[in-house]
Amino acid sequence: DAPASVRRPPRRLTLSYELFPPRSDVQARTLPDTIERLAATGPDFVSVTYGAAGPRRATTTELLRFLVDQTPLRPLAHLTCVGNTEEQLREIIDEFLSAGVRGILAIRGDIPDGLGWPPPGALRYGHHLVRLIREVEAERAIELAAGRVSIGVAAYPNGHPDSPGPRHDIDVLLAKQRAGADFAISQQFYAPGEYLALLRRAELAGVRLPILPGIMPLTEPGRILKLSRLAQIEPPAALLHELELARDETERHRLGVAATVRLIRAVLDEGAPGLHLYTFNNHRAALDVLDELGWPSAA
Ligand code: FAD
Repeated sequence: DAPASVRRPPRRLTLSYELFPPRSDVQARTLPDTIERLAATGPDFVSVTYGAAGPRRATTTELLRFLVDQTPLRPLAHLTCVGNTEEQLREIIDEFLSAGVRGILAIRGDIPDGLGWPPPGALRYGHHLVRLIREVEAERAIELAAGRVSIGVAAYPNGHPDSPGPRHDIDVLLAKQRAGADFAISQQFYAPGEYLALLRRAELAGVRLPILPGIMPLTEPGRILKLSRLAQIEPPAALLHELELARDETERHRLGVAATVRLIRAVLDEGAPGLHLYTFNNHRAALDVLDELGWPSAA
């Protein structure tokens, strides 16, 4: 046993959630309650997804303003190259900063079918957006009394669907790091080894960005299938079968929470720097997962 003086202090794990801007009046009415319940667990930040279409941009900014002005939470605003020219991106970054947002997840976005990429005036890759955010930040440095903007980027335990291979995925992470990113959030994965292999490869190659595991509560088969399709990853067949055989909704929920907790424990035990939960605006599953994990909440 190591003497107390050389024992490492326990790691402080970060906790964060992803929300999406409401897409209907019903969703808009229930979201403040969800936010309040998630806020009670003391997350480090709450990320807000970005859809390129016009009206969605307004609801995104509205939600970001709500989080800044009416809650103690720190929002991380997602932003995509897709759907915006460089000039428009500058305006949006400015809008975020003026609203008090100090965290941005810089991503390329998924390219709509049939669109040649990049169209004139657009930024080609995620790391170009990281650089642009640093530029806008530098231009506004004097006003940003609250300090540096924190920039997150995406990482892919199973490789990005268009990537030629794992080595290229690491090169892309290195480019994001060089451009000024602070941390990464992983795409969903279902086997701990997939994420842990990414952590190891990244560390060996000199990636110093903490890579948070992005995990959704695995309680709803329909959602698991949908996200797997969107992310182009293999859905977890054995778990889906187990969920299908559940007697009722309560049993299915319990099995899904247990599977999520096993996945999270496995990556935390091997060095994951925290936990980022894809909540799909459903606080119940997220809170049940934290409860089952014994996560020390701030409330
Ligand atoms: P990039 O890092 O630009 O990579 C895109 C492709 O280009 C990859 O195949 C990569 O290998 C390749 N590439 C990158 N750099 C180079 C280079 N220098 N030379 C050659 N090839 C290169 N989408 C949304 O629309 N809204 C969201 O809110 C959203 N949130 C997300 C949150 C997380 C945590 C994650 C993981 C994804 C999210 N996405 C979101 C999806 C994301 O937009 C897509 O996965 C997108 O296809 C890639 O974005 P990226 O920033 O990783 O792209």
